[in-house]
Amino acid sequence: MSDIERVGLGYDLHRTDPNRPLILGGVRIESEVGLAGHSDADAVIHAVMDALLGAAGLPDIGELFPDTDPRFEDADSRGLLREVLARLRQHGWEPVNVDVTICAERPRLSPHKPAMAESLAHLLGVERHAVSVKAKTNEGLDAVGRGEAIACYAVAGLCRIA
Ligand code: MG
Repeated sequence: MSDIERVGLGYDLHRTDPNRPLILGGVRIESEVGLAGHSDADAVIHAVMDALLGAAGLPDIGELFPDTDPRFEDADSRGLLREVLARLRQHGWEPVNVDVTICAERPRLSPHKPAMAESLAHLLGVERHAVSVKAKTNEGLDAVGRGEAIACYAVAGLCRIA
């Protein structure tokens, strides 16, 4: 196993929207509320991409995939993540591990954590145990606690491609 040389932090938040699907970590989750956004609004993949890009010292997803660009309307974030991984490879980096914390009042995400972790591991090309997905509520406080938004934090470790 390769030693981590770089660490990056990512964060994302999307407003909830009853007329949109809920897609987190590339997994469609049965829910009464989805997330608003220009792309598929997958806040987990968005936070993971910024963590990876941050670790590599590359521009963030706001610069790479601007929401003013119609190419990214309803974009599948899994495809954007593949683009980010290709960019990392060009710079000689590959992911070692990813750690994710999702803050959501509803729906209850615990039952979906394994599916999200498996999906992310598959997309990242790492072993299942190299991905952690945790879910918390915000104890009813602020916009996330009122169910008006879902937020996600991610940390990623990178190593040099051997
Ligand atoms: Mg986003």
